[in-house]
Amino acid sequence: VPEGHTIHKLARDHAKLFAGQALRVSSPQGASGSPVRAAVPALAAAEALDGQVLRHIDAHGKHLLYRFEDGTLHVHLGLFGRFRTRRAPIPPARETCRLRLATDEVAADLAGAVASRLLDGDAEDELLARLGPDPLRDDADPEAFWAALRRRRIPLAAALMDQSVVAGVGNVFRAEALHACRLDPYLPARELSREDFEALWATIGEQLRDGVRSGRIVTAPARPGVPRSRLRRGERTVVYRRRSCGTCGGPVRREALAGRDLHWCPACQSTTASQAQPAAMKPR
Ligand SMILES: [Zn+2]
Repeated sequence: VPEGHTIHKLARDHAKLFAGQALRVSSPQGASGSPVRAAVPALAAAEALDGQVLRHIDAHGKHLLYRFEDGTLHVHLGLFGRFRTRRAPIPPARETCRLRLATDEVAADLAGAVASRLLDGDAEDELLARLGPDPLRDDADPEAFWAALRRRRIPLAAALMDQSVVAGVGNVFRAEALHACRLDPYLPARELSREDFEALWATIGEQLRDGVRSGRIVTAPARPGVPRSRLRRGERTVVYRRRSCGTCGGPVRREALAGRDLHWCPACQSTTASQAQPAAMKPR
């Protein structure tokens, strides 16, 4: 499931491949008359943008905004969307390809996304108004995150999954950031202290930036002789999808919260544990 780091990395990678060039934009799925609903706006976007120069790409939370000379393409991958890069000789796109961006040398084929459409100014304002600050953006305002938390009684772990509270955090980062800050996921969002909020904002930002650099989520510390980049699947996180906590070894609990399985360590993350743990003991 793509979280914000994947989206920002895609924006960078696609900018390297395509920015400053006139692109061929097509929607094989839309052109095939596919009954998939999202194929219709994708076809309209392809027809409007084909042949235009791509200026740059903005990422905001889990949303990608491709800025063409005259028009913006909005892509949201959802749970199952993905881009595949194809190098020359570029094979014909599959019929399930929602959208293809291409030069003579390279193509990016999008399939399965929940949104791929043209975005006019009003729609963009509406979209951005629904999104909380994205810690990966230079213009992110942490105070908007703080204000959104203060308005919510829902558990902190549910608030973190709400893209209007903070944009870009998904199920893995919510679990790992809350653990790294020793925060009880069931603490009502509005009861988070200012100090813990500042630590949480900083941690989410660090974890996401690390994810953009490495292209994957590695929140566990290195083991003796094993650098973080070599950790195997299942070792890369501290609580997410683990049976035992990577910090204390205690059992990790798993419960559905805000539609997704939450993983947390009751020993590290009870309210009393957070009070007992000096800040210096918190793992990165
Ligand atoms: Zn623990």
